[in-house]
Amino acid sequence: MSKKISVAIVGATGTVGQRFIQALTNHPLFEIKELVASEKSEGKRYGDIVQWKLSSKLDNKIADFTLKNTQKKLESNLVFSAIDSSVATEIEGSYRKQGKVVISNTKNYRMDENVPLLVPEINADHLGLIELQKKKYKGFIVTNPNCSTIGLALALAPLRKFKIEKVIVSTMQAISGAGYPGVASLDILDNIIPFISGEEEKIKSEPNKIFGKFNGKSIQPEKIKISPMVHRVPIIDGHLMSISVQFKTKPERAKIVEAIKQFKGDTFLQKCPSYATPPVVYFEEENRPQTRLDRDLNQGMSVSVGNLRDCEVFDYKFESLVHNTLRGAALGTILIAEYLAVRKML
Ligand code: NAP
Repeated sequence: MSKKISVAIVGATGTVGQRFIQALTNHPLFEIKELVASEKSEGKRYGDIVQWKLSSKLDNKIADFTLKNTQKKLESNLVFSAIDSSVATEIEGSYRKQGKVVISNTKNYRMDENVPLLVPEINADHLGLIELQKKKYKGFIVTNPNCSTIGLALALAPLRKFKIEKVIVSTMQAISGAGYPGVASLDILDNIIPFISGEEEKIKSEPNKIFGKFNGKSIQPEKIKISPMVHRVPIIDGHLMSISVQFKTKPERAKIVEAIKQFKGDTFLQKCPSYATPPVVYFEEENRPQTRLDRDLNQGMSVSVGNLRDCEVFDYKFESLVHNTLRGAALGTILIAEYLAVRKML
């Protein structure tokens, strides 16, 4: 691909927006052309208004960008959205009507029947839904799942061939998952909060859509019974989760390990710059994955799985870790766009 594709980042000032900027500065396929945020940021220089929270330095050229608001027409055809969900339905819907390709992090369109909820390693065939959207709109929307869903879905994907029936998952979720300024320090320091609004609903429903069968017209969701329990913990980045799984028939442990190790994306995905090899890293050590040690594996793109053992109630239990703002948000979304680019669907 000789010429880079221009992109706009909507929600550019936020936690995920900053990760987009970090990952798309000097990206081989995409070039940041426009940054968009709310009315209050409109017309301001990005470097003056953003509360930059990443340890890498903000690029000077990007700092000089003037922020647009969402009413302004965009030049770029490709829009990465990391916008507050309270306004995302209208704003992302409007970009789609204008003919844009919107790849979104927000929850708003994830369960829409014509919108792919995509983890490219798992359900790339769901991109067939784009044709159904194109019958109604000039553009289309593809969504990236909830950050915990991605950690769960990628951990379970290699095991699906053993017919998963039930899952219990307990999450330990980082504070960056709540955006900025997020959870007050007096609430989260020295504390664990056993509730995140709407999170359990997403973790219950999204994996079944991702694992669903696409018959050319619609997705027939999978029927795994999932019981999530979510916790906000005093960690900056990384969602760790304890998962117990029951199968139709209990497979041998060695078969599970082999399935995880062999799991990989298709040949298009292997041409994507952000694709991680392997997408799911398996740890033999019983004390891994650990949030601080393993969240940045393969630039934060690999989900890691470990401490696989027999479960006293279901068949097996193990741990999974996902970097919530990288694989779980910005980088996962960029991977979707790279995949569309490689498949010439942009
Ligand atoms: P955040 O830090 O609160 O950032 C929100 C962004 O939305 C800011 O850029 C803000 O711009 C913009 N915004 C708010 N109201 C707006 C409006 N009326 N018009 C235009 N822009 C508006 O949130 P975040 O954590 O980055 O999350 C962004 C989205 O991604 C959310 O939907 C979230 O659920 C989802 N998500 C987050 C994570 C994560 O780990 N954080 C993971 C997966 C998905 P201003 O600065 O101008 O207000």
